[in-house]
Amino acid sequence: MVHFVGAGPGAPDLITLRGAALLQRADVVIYAGSLVNPALLENTRPGVEIYNSAEMTLEEVLAQMQAAEAQGQDTVRLHTGDPSLYGAVREQMDALDALGIPWDDTPGVSSFCGAAAALGAEYTLPGVSQTLIVTRLAGRTGVPEREALPALAAHGASMALFLSAGNLEGVQQALLEGAYHEDTPAAIVYKATWPDECVVRCTVGTLAAAGAAAGITKTALLLVGAFLGAEYARSKLYDPAFTTAFREGRER
Ligand code: SAH
Repeated sequence: MVHFVGAGPGAPDLITLRGAALLQRADVVIYAGSLVNPALLENTRPGVEIYNSAEMTLEEVLAQMQAAEAQGQDTVRLHTGDPSLYGAVREQMDALDALGIPWDDTPGVSSFCGAAAALGAEYTLPGVSQTLIVTRLAGRTGVPEREALPALAAHGASMALFLSAGNLEGVQQALLEGAYHEDTPAAIVYKATWPDECVVRCTVGTLAAAGAAAGITKTALLLVGAFLGAEYARSKLYDPAFTTAFREGRER
């Protein structure tokens, strides 16, 4: 059987208990070596076969999974963060279905959650934004035209940009074509939750310059929006005057 497992954003203790148990028992591990922390591979049994998918094609990954399955072995396919975001998992799942190889999927802590933790931020602040847009700038991999960054930026919502740190000028320009302003707060979070994590707070107008000054061109998330600012409303949920299913509201 093949187990897709989310490795979490970097720190080895941010994998889930289920993911760690599957990793511990695996006969074969195929990990996304460009971003998965190799420290996670220490939690494997002696004699485990380990492959780095950064050096492999889809066909080569599938061939290893097939070979393991033929011997009745369990494979863990370890993806960074959560497999469902920019993980190229669907094509593997569909190919395994076609091959009649069973699989399951264990979620992980996505890097956008690790980045929020690094910043002490809340994406969905009352009175500021109730929406998080998870997207990327078009690069060598395209983005559907209707999801072009200036179009998404028109909402002015909280935004987390993956895979876009290599073109900060392009991001900055596209954001300014939308509803964000030069002084809209922004942050660049490099290697969230890794030992060499680096957080750069800036604004949309200084995004490219701040990234260049810090020398960040990859393995970073770009976070944008007023949720990184100082202003917000307090929550209704914990307001003494607000009645919920669990608590009777009282006048303050
Ligand atoms: N599935 C992963 C994303 C894989 S795409 C997840 O859920 O996080 C790879 C991109 O994710 C990187 O280019 C970077 O933008 C982002 N990323 C992954 N790990 C990161 C980390 N620890 N800190 C900041 N960005 C990270």
